[in-house]
Amino acid sequence: MITDVLQKHVYVFGAGEAEGNRKMKKLLGGKGANLAEMSAIGLPVPAGITISTESCRYYEENEGKWPEGLREQIRSGVKHIELIMGMKLGDLHHPLLLSVRSGAALSMPGMMDTVLNLGLNDDTVAGLASHTANERFAFDSYRRFIDMFGNVVMGIPHDKFEVAIENLKKSRGVEDDTELTTEDLKELVDRYKAVYRNETGYMFPADPYEQLDLSINAVFNSWMGDRARKYRQINHITGLLGTAVNVQAMVFGNMGDDSATGVCFTRNPSNGENKLYGEFLINAQGEDVVAGIRTPKDIDLLEKEMPEDFKLLNELTQKLEKHYGNMQDIEFTIQKGKLWILQTRNGKRTGQAAVKIAVDMVNEGLITEKEAVKNLVEPNHLDQLLHPQIDKSADGDSTLGKGLPASPGAAVGTVVFSSEKAEEIAEKGEPVILVRIETSPEDVGGMSAAEGILTSRGGMTSHAAVVARGWGKPCVAGCGDIIINYENLSFTNGDTTIREGDWISIDGTTGNVFAGQKEVIKPEMDEDFDTFMGWVDSYRDMMVRTNADSPEDAQKARDFGAEGIGLCRTEHMFFGEERIKAIRKMIISESEIERREALSKLLPYQRKDFYEIFKAMEGLPVTVRLLDPPLHEFLPDSKEEIYKVADDLNVRPQHFIEIVRLLKEFNPMLGHRGCRLGITYPEITEMQTTAILEAAYELKKEGIATIPEIMVPLVGTSQEFKSQKWVIDETAERLFKKWNDRVDYKVGTMIEIPRAALIADQIAKEAEFFSFGTNDLTQMTFGYSRDDAGKFLGEYLKQGILQDDPFQVIDFEGVGQLIEMATDRGRAMKSDLKVGICGEHGGEPNSVAFCYQIGLNYVSCSPYRVPVARLAAAQATLKS
Ligand code: PEP
Ligand code: MG
Repeated sequence: MITDVLQKHVYVFGAGEAEGNRKMKKLLGGKGANLAEMSAIGLPVPAGITISTESCRYYEENEGKWPEGLREQIRSGVKHIELIMGMKLGDLHHPLLLSVRSGAALSMPGMMDTVLNLGLNDDTVAGLASHTANERFAFDSYRRFIDMFGNVVMGIPHDKFEVAIENLKKSRGVEDDTELTTEDLKELVDRYKAVYRNETGYMFPADPYEQLDLSINAVFNSWMGDRARKYRQINHITGLLGTAVNVQAMVFGNMGDDSATGVCFTRNPSNGENKLYGEFLINAQGEDVVAGIRTPKDIDLLEKEMPEDFKLLNELTQKLEKHYGNMQDIEFTIQKGKLWILQTRNGKRTGQAAVKIAVDMVNEGLITEKEAVKNLVEPNHLDQLLHPQIDKSADGDSTLGKGLPASPGAAVGTVVFSSEKAEEIAEKGEPVILVRIETSPEDVGGMSAAEGILTSRGGMTSHAAVVARGWGKPCVAGCGDIIINYENLSFTNGDTTIREGDWISIDGTTGNVFAGQKEVIKPEMDEDFDTFMGWVDSYRDMMVRTNADSPEDAQKARDFGAEGIGLCRTEHMFFGEERIKAIRKMIISESEIERREALSKLLPYQRKDFYEIFKAMEGLPVTVRLLDPPLHEFLPDSKEEIYKVADDLNVRPQHFIEIVRLLKEFNPMLGHRGCRLGITYPEITEMQTTAILEAAYELKKEGIATIPEIMVPLVGTSQEFKSQKWVIDETAERLFKKWNDRVDYKVGTMIEIPRAALIADQIAKEAEFFSFGTNDLTQMTFGYSRDDAGKFLGEYLKQGILQDDPFQVIDFEGVGQLIEMATDRGRAMKSDLKVGICGEHGGEPNSVAFCYQIGLNYVSCSPYRVPVARLAAAQATLKS
């Protein structure tokens, strides 16, 4: 048992010393490790002890028993606090009061809240009153303690105490707590004790050590409580020993006008300015600052009111910032003129501030470029720099609903329900939001004209989401809270009705939809952004490409740092009046000859598009995907339109209706699409190959380098791939013979069907590259329709059945396993196989990190996410 006796359970800190440090998070929890660190570097931290997470583990495994030696170590720890603070727990004249807080290695909602003012009882309260010469303060502290202890430790609903205080205020005819007299507070203490007795069946414990032991047990119990367990389960938090318990001397900011409490940031968290930023309240407790009962003062005013403390606060906060190498968010208290630091942590900040702080701190010599890239800017911060944001400080938040954050940024405009109307109004220079149940390729004109897009159906890979992200246009998709009525030109959420022409605002970063015109902050990219992104690239070793299907998007992406195109969806090029007519002619062709004739009309359009895209991407690889969607997507839906198109195409309406009927499929996602189109109609593949290679040849003659990669979609068997590759190679050879010259090209495939992942080695025999289409791969691995999953995914996330929307973040466990396996099998067959990802996950930071870990060559994402992916890739490298 000697080892047990010797085992250390309690770590003391205070007076410039500490037994722990910031690296001991596992054993001391995040809060305990930070308190120890601050104390060790000489900050004035109220003395305290941290009870180890191992003790919590022991308690859990031994039916609520404490490990041997813990009680004695706590007692001697308290002595240590008493010695440093010059006060004694339970002392009748100069009582030490304590706070008790939980703190695991990771911050974890659901754990126990704080207990303050521990140590008070009917005797010590008198000591506190006389020592502070403030009886009111003493009894106010006492009644707060009974409330907190009763609620947090014994589980008495806080309302029970609230009722008691409300009744007292009513009987005294006052409204605010502050209007209660000292005598009232004494009365309140009695009433609170009665609540405690009624609810628990026990007297309120007067012995401070009993109060302490019960509080420590309550922290341990909260670790095993339902809320905390569920939180760990949902967030897959495993491997933690338990929670630590921090017991610390109380200091008070409400001891008179020479006392204060406040919070500050070492730099401005909105714009990054290097100047102490924050607020404080004279003669107040921390919770008064948070509760907003009194308006705190700007920290600058502290210089006038308490100049010595202000000077010291500046010195200490700068010391902390330097020590942690990051902007800090600090809580402090001044008790009778003495400054105490209670907490420090990395401060939350806007994207603009994040980049400025990173660059400034490097220039000031506080951190290295590498540390700036690794720690100071989160990939999602960059989204804020690239897109307009809703001004959160502006008033009014009448929320109309919440959908998926499909494409980041804020947009404000009047509501329209059709693409035609969107174009018509936008033409006049007026901003509109296009509101549709879902969008289809025919809506692209209106989508492009609108400021933002709102759909009531569809997921993160729905047409609206994918197209909007590509353009960097704000989009909220799948907002099931609203019911759209096209006939009345209105949508409703409960009793609220929004009509065509009404103003709304959407926030594609959060998925929120608001009535009215919200203030919007314009994005700003400055020199700091360029400097920072330069550092990012020097630490990145995975390539970042873009998904783009127009020369404009390609150029935009290149400006954002894309190193090629990973997916050019050719079907997106078929819209526009003449083109859609030509493809419709191709679709309704009844013979190969007719089809070839229609395709020959499409060829020049495609060739021109490819020419311009290749040119914008000079010297960089461009992956062009052959036609992928089921053909019915190009045909009209409504009766009216069917007649109009039949007329345009010069076919009998009845005949046309029949064709549309025949092309309709029960499961179009699993139907006649992908390489199945090219296999049944090889002339489509021939035409597209010709357009790609002719464009490349044209540029070759102009001395412009191109690297075309032709990609076959939706392959499930190696024979499918072989058959399409044969058509491509044959077409190429014919052209080369004609020109008496050649251009380089590669042929590869998408891996987006689970079967393709399983037989990746066979496919790799033939293919020169793989690109994971994780939208379809997720759809087919889970068996969730990518367009309909919105109906249940919200509930799945709420219940913790899924941790993330798998269409947003790669499902590492399942889909990720397929990706890793297919990569390994493909490379076992062909060691230099180039492998990338082009599904929507290619711009999502966690998914980018995953792609890096399993050794992909590149990720490809929409243009506006390229900087995000660059940073995520660099951080993955630095953290690996
Ligand atoms: C995919 O399936 O991931 C993909 C990129 O193709 P699409 O989204 O066009 O089906
Ligand atoms: Mg796909």
